[in-house]
Amino acid sequence: MSSTSSINPIADRLEQIWSTLPSSVRLIAVTKQVPVELMRAAYEAGVRDFGESRIQEAMTKQTQLADLPDITWHFIGHLQTNKVARALDLFQWIHSVDSLKLAQQLNQRAQERQQSPKVCLQVKLLPDPQKYGWTEAELLEALPELDRCSHLQIVGLMTIPPYGLSQDETLAVFRNTRRLAEQIQAQSWSHLRMHHLSMGMSDDYQLAVQAGATMVRLGRTLFGERR
Ligand SMILES: *Cc1c(COP(=O)(O)O)cnc(C)c1O
Repeated sequence: MSSTSSINPIADRLEQIWSTLPSSVRLIAVTKQVPVELMRAAYEAGVRDFGESRIQEAMTKQTQLADLPDITWHFIGHLQTNKVARALDLFQWIHSVDSLKLAQQLNQRAQERQQSPKVCLQVKLLPDPQKYGWTEAELLEALPELDRCSHLQIVGLMTIPPYGLSQDETLAVFRNTRRLAEQIQAQSWSHLRMHHLSMGMSDDYQLAVQAGATMVRLGRTLFGERR
C-alpha cells in the first residue's frame, strides 16, 4: 500500500497474512508491548485496527500516535469496573465483556456520555481457570439483562480457547462458539446482535477463520515475540 513498504518491517508479513484471509475478516493488530515505531509501520502498511489489553499502555500510545486520525482501537483485555470510563475514552470496541456487572457499568457510563460502544461478550465454552468469560449456561441466563443494555451495541462473541488443545479440539471450540452465536441470534432480542465472532490469535487464526471468525486478533505473527 505504501511506497515505503520495501523498508517497512511488517508490510510483507501483513501482505502475506491478508492474502490468506477472506476479505470479510477484519485483522486486529494486537500491539501490547509493541513499540509505537512498529505500530506506525503497521499503520503505513494499511492497518487501521489496533488491539490493546491494558488501559495505561493504550493511553500512552494513543497520545504518541495522535497524528494518525483514522485508527479504530479495540480493547481485548480484562476490564476492571473502575476503569470503565477510561476504556470508553480510549476504545471504540470492547471485545472482552465478561460479566453482567461490567456490561451494566459500561452501559450506564455510555449512556451518561452519549456513546454507544461496540461490544463482544467473552465466552469460555471449556473450563479454563486462567481466563475470564461466561460459560454457555451463564451467558444464556444473562441474556435478558444484557438485552436491556441499550447503550451498548452488543454485536457478537469473543473467545480464547484454553492453552494446549489439539487442532481438532481448538476447531471444535471455535465451531461451538459460532453455534452459540447463531443460537442467540435466532432468538428475538431487541438490542443483542450476533454478527461478529472475535476469535483466532497467531497460533490458531486459520482454524478460527475456518469456523467463521469475522475478526482475528494477531500479535506475535505480525510483530514477533513479545519481550
Ligand atoms: C495477546 C492477545 C492476542 C494476540 O496473541 P498472539 O498470540 O500474539 O497473536 C489476542 N487476543 C488477546 C485477548 C490477547 O491478549
